[in-house]
Amino acid sequence: MGKNIIAGNWKMFKTNSEALSLVKQLKTKLNKKKTEDTLVIVCPPFTALSKVSEELKNSKMGVGAQNMFVEEEGAYTGEISPAMIKSAGAKYVIIGHSERRRYFKEDEKLINKKIKLALKHKLKVIFCVGETLEERKQNLTQDIIANQIEWGLKGIKIPELKNVVIAYEPVWAIGTGKTATPKQAQEVHAFLRVVLDALYTDGTGKKMSILYGGSVKPDNALGLLSQQDIDGALVGGACLVAKDFWKIIQASEKVG
Ligand code: PEP
Repeated sequence: MGKNIIAGNWKMFKTNSEALSLVKQLKTKLNKKKTEDTLVIVCPPFTALSKVSEELKNSKMGVGAQNMFVEEEGAYTGEISPAMIKSAGAKYVIIGHSERRRYFKEDEKLINKKIKLALKHKLKVIFCVGETLEERKQNLTQDIIANQIEWGLKGIKIPELKNVVIAYEPVWAIGTGKTATPKQAQEVHAFLRVVLDALYTDGTGKKMSILYGGSVKPDNALGLLSQQDIDGALVGGACLVAKDFWKIIQASEKVG
């Protein structure tokens, strides 16, 4: 586990000019950052990847894509390959986001193939897992999370895990304003480390960065980020406004 990570998932927001305006504001703020304890990553839509990467070329911020296709290339109209993402300057890719699972029917097998392909192309993966409200109510959170991790990481070897970051994003907390309490999030993060240890070897879980995502806002970030097993946040709505994202970054610096 290295620095705290604060990653922003812009989803389907921001035209190119809006994207540039947001990163320029972020860059100005980040130049004032006092410590180097937090790695900041922005994940704009595909259309803005090149422009944002170019703008951030000499900065310490990372750039990621929000998705990628599961093949190297071919007749897949409308899709984007890992090599294209890399050539646009991005080093990260989000895989397994609940919106992809829900609206595009991405299942564990497909997610596993995508993770393998992304790693083959030397992209760092932000791998999202999380239970629905129904599953939580039925006490299935641990079963669901363990299953998603086991499937998602099938065939992935220990040395490759340094290029994988896990994001625990309870589906019921994404875009809903309902955040998991710090205690609820901490419990799942600690459990994730146990699952990783069982899947690989003792101590694997501790070495991996596990982010929390789901309605992280400036006013709840500190409580979540202060939890022992929470290594950062994947932020949706609040990353679209520079001052809000900046406040979350500052909360991370405080606990760094
Ligand atoms: C997300 O999209 O990954 C996310 C966590 O969104 P929000 O912060 O808006 O809940």
